[in-house]
Amino acid sequence: MQITGGCLCGAVRYRVDAAPIVTRVCWCRLCQYLGAGSGTVNTCFPSDSISIEGDLGDFTSVADSGNIMHRRFCTACGTQLFSEAEARPHLIFVRAGTLDDPEVAKPSVTIWTESAPSWACIDAALPTYTKQAPPAA
Ligand SMILES: [Zn+2]
Ligand SMILES: [Zn+2]
Repeated sequence: MQITGGCLCGAVRYRVDAAPIVTRVCWCRLCQYLGAGSGTVNTCFPSDSISIEGDLGDFTSVADSGNIMHRRFCTACGTQLFSEAEARPHLIFVRAGTLDDPEVAKPSVTIWTESAPSWACIDAALPTYTKQAPPAA
């Protein structure tokens, strides 16, 4: 299986040689900033299955859990591409909008629903967590 993607301007490109582990919709407050008001859709892969080309900026923050999070973006166009937790270095979350074929990312769960605004569209067919879901693997 080979999955490809990149940022809006094309300066960052990546290739994944593995199937997605899980795709989650995240309505945490931070994702609402990145998602222009919406939640974000994030597809998890084993980090050793991805190769990345291009310049990435890194926004570092500390999650409620105490985990140090890295959110990486294209330094030219600002597109958010990746999210990684230092506590789980074997996993990388790819922003699903950057996949060449977003059909690859079929969400199976919605997380952080307690932070979502009242008008959020949350798929009633999917399981939801008010906060973080259990770790992907
Ligand atoms: Zn770019
Ligand atoms: Zn989030």
